[in-house]
Amino acid sequence: MVFVLGVCIGGAAAGLLERARASERQQKLTEAAAAHGALVQQLVDRSLSATYAMAAVLQQNPTDLASLERLSRKLLPLYTGVDNLQLSPGGVVRHVFPATANQGPIGHDLLLDPLSRDEARLTVETRDLHIAIPTKLRQGKPGFVGRYPVFMADSQGTPRFWGFVSAVVLLDTIVAFGQFDRLDQRELAYQLWRSNPITGQPETLVRSAAPLTEVMVSTSIGVPRGSWQLTVSPVTPDSFFNSTHLAELLIVALIAAAAAAVTRSMLMRPVELAQMVRRRTRSLRNANAHLRQKATHDSLTGLGNRALLEHDLNQAIEDAQRNMGKFAVLLLDLDDFKSINDSLGHRAGDAMLKVVAGYLNRCVGPEDAIYRLGGDEFVIVLKRIGDAGAASAVAGKILAEVARPHLVQGRETHLTTSLGVVLYPQDASDAESLLSLADVAMYRAKKSGRNQVAFFSAALDHAAQTRLELVDQLRKAIRVEAFELHYQIKADIASGRPVGAEALLRWRHPVRGQVPPAEFIPLAEESGLIVPIGEWALRTACMEAMAWNRHLGTSLTIAVNLSAKQFQDEALLEKVRMALAHSGLPAHLLELEITESMMMHKPDEAAATMRALRQLGVHLAVDDFGTGYSSLGYLSRFPIHCLKIDRSFVQNVPACEADATIARSIVSLGKSLGLAVVAEGVETREQLDFLRQHGCDIAQGYLLGRPQAAAEFVAQLRTMDMAGAKHCETIRE
Ligand code: C2E
Ligand code: CA
Ligand code: CA
Repeated sequence: MVFVLGVCIGGAAAGLLERARASERQQKLTEAAAAHGALVQQLVDRSLSATYAMAAVLQQNPTDLASLERLSRKLLPLYTGVDNLQLSPGGVVRHVFPATANQGPIGHDLLLDPLSRDEARLTVETRDLHIAIPTKLRQGKPGFVGRYPVFMADSQGTPRFWGFVSAVVLLDTIVAFGQFDRLDQRELAYQLWRSNPITGQPETLVRSAAPLTEVMVSTSIGVPRGSWQLTVSPVTPDSFFNSTHLAELLIVALIAAAAAAVTRSMLMRPVELAQMVRRRTRSLRNANAHLRQKATHDSLTGLGNRALLEHDLNQAIEDAQRNMGKFAVLLLDLDDFKSINDSLGHRAGDAMLKVVAGYLNRCVGPEDAIYRLGGDEFVIVLKRIGDAGAASAVAGKILAEVARPHLVQGRETHLTTSLGVVLYPQDASDAESLLSLADVAMYRAKKSGRNQVAFFSAALDHAAQTRLELVDQLRKAIRVEAFELHYQIKADIASGRPVGAEALLRWRHPVRGQVPPAEFIPLAEESGLIVPIGEWALRTACMEAMAWNRHLGTSLTIAVNLSAKQFQDEALLEKVRMALAHSGLPAHLLELEITESMMMHKPDEAAATMRALRQLGVHLAVDDFGTGYSSLGYLSRFPIHCLKIDRSFVQNVPACEADATIARSIVSLGKSLGLAVVAEGVETREQLDFLRQHGCDIAQGYLLGRPQAAAEFVAQLRTMDMAGAKHCETIRE
């Protein structure tokens, strides 16, 4: 914009300048024309005046030629420019003064010569002075003649034409007197001309060698009965885009470009400045972040250091005070790390510490934080840990992870760790005390044999220790397959016919004998062990169900319980498919039991999983129905086949009115949704009667049979088969 504006303004200025120059040139031209015109005018006037003077003397004494001769000699120097004077009595040239001049014209009859005739006659007729321009004078040179007709009175006093008195001006004289050479010097072309008074044709007296151009100025030179013109023009016409003007325009463009560049740099300055500030700020921020990272993190593992731990602990205490929250601090020290370091070298030791940091990361949740205090000492802050049990579950996981054999520099290495645990706010209420008490607990763990967890408050130690031991034993139980499945029969209430069984997990503990699921399943869930255990249960149930169906020639269904972790396992679908494929059990005979809370956790994902399972042909049952969310409206969104009324509602029917109402409504809800309804925990005939009365389809409970090992269960089915009528009657009565 600045460039365009600059060019416009500069161009306009240059244009004005150029116009001013043009008008100045015009002015000079006019002045030149006027000046040289004035000189020519002088010459014309002199020639005329000379004829006047001669005529006056002649009229005094027309015969005294000698005195005329004398007079002309006196007159001529006065009338510089006039070359000679002539007397032409009767129109014929008789005398030329000075006698030294060219005498050629003598005898020339002006009134008869066709070249001079017309003008000469006109002069006589008008009785007035006249300037004639013979194309060629008698002297042989071009020029002009001022001619005066002399009249003299005759005897009667009547004026009679006597003849002419003429003053001759030669062309060279005109050129010299008019100073036309100066026009040549100024590179001006010129033309002195007139319109012939007789013919009206233009006649040129003098012209420059160079022709006139378009820009011309004329000035008039007064002659009797008309005028002459002196026209002047520059030899080379001025173009508007002459070199000066073009140079100016070029300079204008250059200046405009420079102005534009300066403006641009001025405008860009703040932008560039802002960019620079942003760059500097960014690099400063990065440097800061780097410094902060260095100041607060351990360079080997990238974990937070002691400074960050103290800061975070204080923050955690503040948060916990605000929300009445609890948290746990775990202090971890690797057992015998020094000997590993010494035997394998520092490099290996460092690699080991990195590996351990990775393991720790796997054991904690996203809200928890891990720090390295230096050496082989780590601290973990577990947020939102309600009790010692939860803390010990994580601690147990850490023990197990660290104890796994690791490959360090191609060698299998064994490592254990000792852990001390403190709880906020039970054990201490400030960061410093929490850390030193955790240290005390950790030393206790070391003292009592390493590879252990110790709580600072000894009371917690025992419970936690038992749990940890149990988790450890569970892990072993998976390896040695110390689990078995018991089966509990389900029968059709209307006909008494057995329709299937539920598989219930049992743990054969080497010391404690049969451990009930209520005791170990929550532990298995906390430690994540439920996934492999549940997978085993699924595979085994399918296999055994297929076996006894084949054995008895029946098509009984088998219900398997799924835990939340299994349900969220991405591999669940594949595992179910494999269990079916391995056993050969038809998919529709497998029923997976899930709870309401599992469906409601992430309803969309749960529904997707359920749809996928259903596509396999597997049936789905909602276990413990009525105890959970009971968002009945949601029920229709999930692809389920069956509702299992929770035992707690069945227990008190028909006596408890409230439970009876709930049981009744679950049945009618199931019916309206087209679902099968199973009542669990049916122990009495009254309960069974009530359920039958209200249209419940299937019963499960001690009344029909306790959960039994596979062999006994098959035996029971066989007796039922043999004494089917009896059982039917039990139900029918
Ligand atoms: P659940 O799924 O509700 O299983 C029914 C429980 O009720 C079983 O307890 C069964 O023995 C008991 N029961 C059946 N009939 C009666 C009765 O008439 N009266 C009384 N009082 N109880 C009866 P169990 O076998 O101790 O199982 C407890 C829970 O453990 C199960 O409850 C289930 O949630 C879980 N569980 C069992 N096996 C597995 C398994 O393989 N995987 C998973 N994830 N959980 C399992
Ligand atoms: Ca169940
Ligand atoms: Ca149940």
